[in-house]
Amino acid sequence: MNLSYWELKNWFTNVDYAIVGSGIVGLHTALNLREKFPESKILVLEKGMLPQGASTKNAGFACFGSLSEIIDDLKSHSEEEVIQLIQKRWQGLQLLRKRLGDATIDFKPYGGYELFLQEDESSLQECTSKMPFVNEILKPLFKAEVFAKQIDRFGFQNVNEYLYYNPFEAQIDTGNMMQALLKMAVSQDILILNQQTVTSYHENSNGVEVALGDFTFQTKKLLFATNGFANSLTNGAVKPARAQVLITKPIPNLDIKGTFHLDKGYYYFRNIGDRILFGGGRNLDFEGETTTEFGETEIIQNRLEQLLKEVILPNQEFEIEHRWSGIMGMGSSKKPIVEQISENVYCGVRLGGMGVAIGSLIGKELAELVG
Ligand SMILES: Cc1cc2nc3c(=O)[nH]c(=O)nc-3n(C[C@H](O)[C@H](O)[C@H](O)COP(=O)(O)OP(=O)(O)OC[C@H]3O[C@@H](n4cnc5c(N)ncnc54)[C@H](O)[C@@H]3O)c2cc1C
Repeated sequence: MNLSYWELKNWFTNVDYAIVGSGIVGLHTALNLREKFPESKILVLEKGMLPQGASTKNAGFACFGSLSEIIDDLKSHSEEEVIQLIQKRWQGLQLLRKRLGDATIDFKPYGGYELFLQEDESSLQECTSKMPFVNEILKPLFKAEVFAKQIDRFGFQNVNEYLYYNPFEAQIDTGNMMQALLKMAVSQDILILNQQTVTSYHENSNGVEVALGDFTFQTKKLLFATNGFANSLTNGAVKPARAQVLITKPIPNLDIKGTFHLDKGYYYFRNIGDRILFGGGRNLDFEGETTTEFGETEIIQNRLEQLLKEVILPNQEFEIEHRWSGIMGMGSSKKPIVEQISENVYCGVRLGGMGVAIGSLIGKELAELVG
C-alpha cells in the first residue's frame, strides 16, 4: 500500500485513538471518546465491507435474559453478578434508545416470551418454582414483576400450553441501528476505514504501532472491540461462537408478534413485519460452531426448518427467503471483558449473545477506561 502524502497526513498522522472493529461496541466507544475529546483524531478500522461480526447479523432482540437463562446463570454466577449483568444490559439498552431514538431503531415494545418444548417439562417446572425468586431479585431494578406465566395464545404446537411472558422485552431493527450509528460516527468526524484488518501491534515510546498487513501507522491509544475475533490479538478468554439464522418470505395473516425464546435460549424467533426470523441450534454442534468462519450447516438449518414446521408455524405455508450467520464472543463467564491490556492498549470484548442491549454500555465503559 503506497499511500499519498495527503492520505498519510489526514488519515494516519497524529492518530489519538485507533479502534479495531466497527460493531456496536466499536462505534459506541468512538462516539463516547468524541464526547470526551472533541478535538481528537479517532480512526476506526474494520476488516469487513460492513461491520462483519455480529452487530449487523443479529436478531434484534432488545432483551436481558429469558427466565430459564437467568436461572441457569444463577448456577454459575453469584446472585450479585447476575443482577449486575441484567442491570448493565438494561442500562445499555436505555443508552442505545437515548442516543438513536426509538423511531430510528424501530423500537417495538411487544414483550418477550419463553416457550418450552413438550419434552422439556423439567425446565418448565424449574422456571415455575424459581420464578418468584427471580422476580423478587429483579424488583428493585424494574419496580414490577418481570416474568408471568401465561397460556400460549399463538397456536404453537408440540410445546407446553404455558409460556412465560416478559413485558420489558422489545424488538429493534438491527439494520437501522447500525446504519444510524455509522452515520452518527461519520457526522462527528470519526474516520472509518473498511476492509482493513489489524494484523499485529506493538507498544513503543510514542504509543502503539499498528500493522495493517505491510503498512504500519502510529496511534497514541489502541482499543480492540473485536468480540468473537478477540482471541487472535487480545484476549484468549474469548471463544468465537457462530450463530445461524434464517428468515421466511412474508406470511399472509401472520399472528405472531414479539420476541420468543425456545429450548433454554438455544433457539430464538421473532416477527419482522409479516416474516419470521428464526435462529439458533448451536447446541447441536458446539464444536463445529466454535469458529470465526461464517457459514450455514445442514444439521442446524434442517433443525431450524423442522421447528418452524412442527412448532412455530404448524398450520401455515411458508417459504425460506434467506439464511446467514454471524460470529459472537463467548466464554466461561457472561461478564464482558473491559480491560487495559498494556500501557496504551485496551479491549471491550466477550459480549455473549446479548450485545444489542449491553453493547452501548461496554462502549462507554471502554472509552472511560482510556480517558
Ligand atoms: C445471529 C446472531 C443473533 C444475535 N441476536 C442477538 C439479539 O437478538 N440480541 C442481542 O442482544 N444480541 C444478539 N446477538 C449478539 C450481538 O449481535 C453481539 O453481542 C454484538 O453485536 C457484539 O457487538 P461487538 O461490537 O462487540 O462485536 P461485532 O459486531 O462482532 O464487531 C466486531 C468487529 O470487529 C471486526 N474485527 C475483528 N477483528 C478485526 C481485525 N483484526 N481488524 C479489523 N477489524 C476486526 C469484525 O469484522 C467486526 O465487525 C446475536 C448475534 C448473532 C451472530
